[in-house]
Amino acid sequence: TIYNLGSINADHLYRLDHLPRPGETLAALSYARGLGGKGANQSVAAARAGGAVRHIGALGADGAWMRARLVAAGVECSAVAEVAGASGHAIITVDAAGENAIVLHPGANRVITGETVRAALAGAGPGDWLIVQNETSAQIEAGQIALEQGLKLIYSAAPFEAGAARAMLPFTWLLILNEIEAEQLCAALGVGLGDLPVPHVLVTLGARGAVWHDLGAGAEVRVPAFAVAARDTTGAGDTFAGYLVAGLAEGRAPAAAMRLAAAAAAVKVTRAGTADAIPAREEVEAFLAA
Ligand code: ADP
Repeated sequence: TIYNLGSINADHLYRLDHLPRPGETLAALSYARGLGGKGANQSVAAARAGGAVRHIGALGADGAWMRARLVAAGVECSAVAEVAGASGHAIITVDAAGENAIVLHPGANRVITGETVRAALAGAGPGDWLIVQNETSAQIEAGQIALEQGLKLIYSAAPFEAGAARAMLPFTWLLILNEIEAEQLCAALGVGLGDLPVPHVLVTLGARGAVWHDLGAGAEVRVPAFAVAARDTTGAGDTFAGYLVAGLAEGRAPAAAMRLAAAAAAVKVTRAGTADAIPAREEVEAFLAA
């Protein structure tokens, strides 16, 4: 099973002529609501890839539609608690030139407790996987449980936070970073990538692909990105991460799991949207066969 302690956010997208100035009230030209949050995106990606995914998280009473979207994508949600207060959400405003301004409220994502995580992982052990990012509470407890019970922990150090990253590395089997996060982490720790205290590091390089460093073996695997006409790259990294873990959980070697993940991310970037735009496995296989 792939467990994912992850954020679930409502993305509220407003298109405006210009971004509002202090004191200004402005009518939006359009509105769209979508499922987002790095955790939800990664769960949807791993489930659409065919993985058995159990999400661990929290929603407010306003989050029933997000739970329903996750379930529809094939994500098991019995460990998604309903808590008091608002669900995590983002107010995304975009002006005519494509410039954006975003207000993010973590809400329910930050009230997940260690007890919730422990209960959700009660039956988990060797052979199971745990994904963690930086948009929830209880990551350190999750790391401790993964270590105690023998799960492989995959940690996306995003959005980057030096303290959180430092605390999570001792529990991490595979660290996933984009290029910017890799730079930030190495600068914060004052070490080179090859000296990070984890067994494996995967760095995604946008349109230049991705590289997996097996630090123990001193080996690396590079996989190029697929050439596509990119329309919206939001969620590319999450699509890659979710498909990658599903591929690893199927028993694929890193190179094969990365190729599958790169194909899924390539299809995603051709589409607008985040969770709702993550392709199904059949679409990814068709893309690879084309
Ligand atoms: P993040 O979204 O976390 O910043 P990246 O931008 O590194 O992550 O993208 C993650 C993966 O998505 C890349 O390794 C690549 O496989 C794929 N990808 C991203 N941008 C493109 C693109 N323009 N064309 C094709 N594939 C892309």
